[in-house]
Amino acid sequence: MKAFYSDTFVLPLPEHHRFPMTKYRLLRERLIAERIIDADDLRVADPVAWDDLRLVHDAGYVDAVANGTLPADMQRRIGFPWSPMMVERSRRSVGATLAAAREVCRDEPGAVGLRVSANLAGGTHHAFRDRGEGYCVFNDVAVAASALLRDGEIARAAVIDCDVHQGNGTAAIFRDDPRVFTFSLHGANNFPFRKETSDLDVTFEDGAGDDEYLAALEQHLPPVLDRFQPDIVFYLAGADPYEGDRLGRLELTIDGLRTRDRFVFNACCGRSLPVAVVMSGGYAPDVDAIVTIHANTIREAAAFARSAVNSQSAHSAINSPSAHSAINPQSAHSAISSQSAHSAINPQSAFNPPITNKSAIRNPQSAMRNAPIGATVSVCFRLLTEDDVKRVLTMDDLIDAMSGALRSFSTGQVAQPVRTVISVKGDEAFFGLMPAYVRADTGDANFGAAGPADIRADRGDANYSAAAASLGAKLVTVFGGNIARGLHSHLASIVLLDPDTGALRALLDGRYITEARTAAVSAVSSRLLARKTAQSLAIIGSGVQARSHLEALSRVHNIRYAAVWSPNKAHRDQFVANCTRDAAATHDGRGARPDVKAVDHAGECIVGADLIVLATSSPAPVLENGWVKPGAHVMSVGACRPNQREMDPALVARARLFVDSRAAALVESGDVVLGIQEGRFGPDHIVAEVGEVVNGAEGRRSDGEITIFKSLGLAVEDVTAADLAYRRAVERRIGQELEL
Ligand SMILES: [Zn+2]
Repeated sequence: MKAFYSDTFVLPLPEHHRFPMTKYRLLRERLIAERIIDADDLRVADPVAWDDLRLVHDAGYVDAVANGTLPADMQRRIGFPWSPMMVERSRRSVGATLAAAREVCRDEPGAVGLRVSANLAGGTHHAFRDRGEGYCVFNDVAVAASALLRDGEIARAAVIDCDVHQGNGTAAIFRDDPRVFTFSLHGANNFPFRKETSDLDVTFEDGAGDDEYLAALEQHLPPVLDRFQPDIVFYLAGADPYEGDRLGRLELTIDGLRTRDRFVFNACCGRSLPVAVVMSGGYAPDVDAIVTIHANTIREAAAFARSAVNSQSAHSAINSPSAHSAINPQSAHSAISSQSAHSAINPQSAFNPPITNKSAIRNPQSAMRNAPIGATVSVCFRLLTEDDVKRVLTMDDLIDAMSGALRSFSTGQVAQPVRTVISVKGDEAFFGLMPAYVRADTGDANFGAAGPADIRADRGDANYSAAAASLGAKLVTVFGGNIARGLHSHLASIVLLDPDTGALRALLDGRYITEARTAAVSAVSSRLLARKTAQSLAIIGSGVQARSHLEALSRVHNIRYAAVWSPNKAHRDQFVANCTRDAAATHDGRGARPDVKAVDHAGECIVGADLIVLATSSPAPVLENGWVKPGAHVMSVGACRPNQREMDPALVARARLFVDSRAAALVESGDVVLGIQEGRFGPDHIVAEVGEVVNGAEGRRSDGEITIFKSLGLAVEDVTAADLAYRRAVERRIGQELEL
């Protein structure tokens, strides 16, 4: 199972603040130390998209949180002081719940074991549409459920809220929504003192213990799942019903809470329901106890994820030998009739009849597969050669398209795994697979100074629809031996598929797109992060990337001096000759190319440069820390394997580090991975993804600091660039139409 975390984004709290911020980091460390979950399965969550937040929250509230302009009393009700990190952290936490939910929705049912995924924080159920309270800024479960409903990934969701406090925000948000069933088990005399009406509320008097709690759960949970038939269950596994909790007022034991978790997972597993589990509250003075309770939740989830359900009966979970405080089924029924556990089903919204043909709603492809053979039509697609692609893509277009692609990526609009790489001939050749799905972008998700200009550039282009979805993959190979055969070492093909049907839409040569989009992405980073006065450029490397970077950076800076160095003198001289020819061919006034000078030593090239491009195939550093002047912006596009690096690690540690993808950088980039392994910095040395900076996150803070952009290349860049080329080609009737 996968688990998503955001504990590296810590919001500043006054000393002695009672929110136990450290529990999240301790939980993650415990999960790794006790091997409850594989380190590979732990993911940093992307921040939720602003548009996704607006599915639930009023735009005015979202804006006020983003800008720190909430009235003081509203901020006080939340319980955290405002800071940019509070905003970031809140978005990350919602993003983690959404990522966990998407993860389980994507899994195919029928595989062995429970489909379950976790947010190692979350459960911010006191957030309403227009306000937050009780340490809850945005309602993570409500936003995640709403996003999945919008995207058609689910038709119904059930929220099983076992935090000791009522899920009042969630109840209010979904009160009139028949698609989401809210079930809250909570203390009758606890915060919030004015309760909302969930679809099902079960309340406990002070002091209720394991037996009573588990009996109520056993009585009510199975009928909710059977009658409502959700497509996903959100489970808030609060640690605050614990007897040692400062705010809980109930008396559940650690074992009792673990039994509760096992019961919920077992009930979902037996019904093949995917579960997104979030941690929710836990305020015991003994942080270790909270961490144990949360870790047990993940331990139980992971056990169910590994093995198929062993029984359809809830009793087997409750009576399992490892549960010391297990109740027996006989006493369960007496507890239900006792006065202290009280349940109330809201008559207005209870149990809409389940949709009989839900599988058709959830999985439209299955209907297509069943269509009669005579009804199928042949698939037409467009073939675009390298020359076709060059004719329709300009560097200016690409820079704007890449700005949008990076932003989509960092706002969670893109489904994209870290690339799969296969070694073909030992370590001599590689084959990489890079698929991406870019969701339709329906609105302006922007705050901050840098963002809107970039977005306007995208939207202002009538030929390119930033709103349409796109789906595709790049197949890329790196064969070093190709040079001797007169072929490029890096080759690529891109397939574009119709996002509505999956049918092949276009097949494009991907070599030029790879070359040009990489430079365009660097230009996006440089426009945002380099000093505005930058005028000197150093390029290490003399291959195709060196050339495309010179072109792309000339579009965003007024470059007056450029120098190039690569180990082979003949290559660098040839590079200068080509550049001179290119410059003569370009007379559009904008982006005029500077004269380029070849130099004999790398240090000579670098010293004094404002902009530094590293486009090498070197596995070892080519850039020394001492050469780089304060205020420089470094773009590193080579060294894309975890055992390769092209920068002096002391420089990486000294600079502020930006990446295209955190997830990829922490796996693929030797400049990052080796630095962490050597203890020079931690994963949080990565300041931000460039897409976050496009979206308004802080970039450069002063003229003196060095910024680094480590670029690994993302599938979304290729798919977005290919999609743009395809649309242009259709308009201009370029390329060949073929039939499958
Ligand atoms: Zn709580």
